[in-house]
Amino acid sequence: MNFDNTKIAFSMKSKGDLRNAKLLFSVIQSPATVKLFKYLTNFALKIHFPVAWAVKPTLYRQFVGGETIEECGKTVQMLKNYNVKSVLDFSAEGGSSQKSIERAYNETLKSIKYAANNNAIPYAVFKPTAMVRYATLEKAARGMELSLEETQEIEKFRERIFSLCRAAWHEGVRILIDAEHYLTQDIIDNITEEAMETFNKERAIVFHTLQMYRKDRLEYLKKLHEIANEKGYITGIKFVRGAYMEEERELALKEGYPDPICATKEATDNSYDNGLRYVMENINSFELFSGTHNYNSNYLLAQLIEEKGIKRDDQRIYFSQLYGMSDNISFVLASQGYNVCKYLPYAPVREVLPYLLRRAEENTSMAGQTGRELKLIKDEIARRAKAHS
Ligand SMILES: Cc1cc2nc3c(=O)[nH]c(=O)nc-3n(C[C@H](O)[C@H](O)[C@H](O)COP(=O)(O)OP(=O)(O)OC[C@H]3O[C@@H](n4cnc5c(N)ncnc54)[C@H](O)[C@@H]3O)c2cc1C
Repeated sequence: MNFDNTKIAFSMKSKGDLRNAKLLFSVIQSPATVKLFKYLTNFALKIHFPVAWAVKPTLYRQFVGGETIEECGKTVQMLKNYNVKSVLDFSAEGGSSQKSIERAYNETLKSIKYAANNNAIPYAVFKPTAMVRYATLEKAARGMELSLEETQEIEKFRERIFSLCRAAWHEGVRILIDAEHYLTQDIIDNITEEAMETFNKERAIVFHTLQMYRKDRLEYLKKLHEIANEKGYITGIKFVRGAYMEEERELALKEGYPDPICATKEATDNSYDNGLRYVMENINSFELFSGTHNYNSNYLLAQLIEEKGIKRDDQRIYFSQLYGMSDNISFVLASQGYNVCKYLPYAPVREVLPYLLRRAEENTSMAGQTGRELKLIKDEIARRAKAHS
């Protein structure tokens, strides 16, 4: 299996798509350009200057499925034609007002129902912090005294998560609970454990996300497994490395607690891969969703599936990458019969801008990622030119 097979990797991309991607990845390679773009975008948003005309044919086209669930339908179908499935991810970031919380909640419910009627969408997903005012969650996480209203808000937060998990259980759709900042994760861990205990009796419906850049997550994984065995349920695990490393390190330094993140990239890689090994060793009591663009971790999981003699399309195991990134990994794995899905973000242009800025920044700061994408895109453009000459 070769992830650098660009013919398979970009089989869905038109010439125009590739040209757009080449230009985009060339531009976001420069941290200074991304910084400037971030500044200009934030300024444009502040003064209500229209930005859609610049963003929609570039960043948006590369990384987003559409403004609404319905608009994503075409992309979902196109991906399905290549054996790649989708996870619809409502990615609007509209602050923590009651209105935006209600909207995120209703949108997630809608996506669960949509997934129930579409076999190209094996999971629903939500960000837990979209279901509560962040300031209240943070206060609770810090153990500060809460007013009656705030206590009710936290209770409502728990109810919303449970209600989404219940809806997913009812519809027979698996649901991923994303992981975010270290500070608030304990509260989310507790609710997720409770939800897994309630809804994962026969199969995994609720999936907990473990950020393996955290020093404590491998031990936590083993503890989760022990608890699940005692209580008799299946543990749904989504592994990621973790997206907030710089912020976490800065906060730990500022507030004087030990840095929760592995000291080196190598340690994070080992933690991720050992997590994969542990779950695959005990696959009869787990379901696994591996969210990574890392070559070695993807090769490793494929290898573990072969070694254990598990069918490649065993529904307990999925590989996943973000839409617009690492298509080479997704399409090559899918062409070999493994289960693959893309996180497919959707939201109106203005509201998805923070997500897009994060993608641009992530692609810039991740050593090698943009260079790799760009090289593969150029290789494919050259391959097609040669094939037509
Ligand atoms: C499908 C999918 C879903 C995702 N969902 C979430 C989510 O719910 N929550 C979330 O936080 N992130 C999520 N992410 C993002 C993810 O956490 C990573 O930021 C991103 O995928 C890059 O990691 P990688 O494994 O793909 O690749 P790699 O390029 O191999 O790894 C980069 C990652 O390694 C870690 N790292 C880098 N340098 C160091 C260092 N010096 N020391 C220690 N660690 C280091 C960081 O986590 C960095 O993001 C998701 C990603 C995917 C593909």
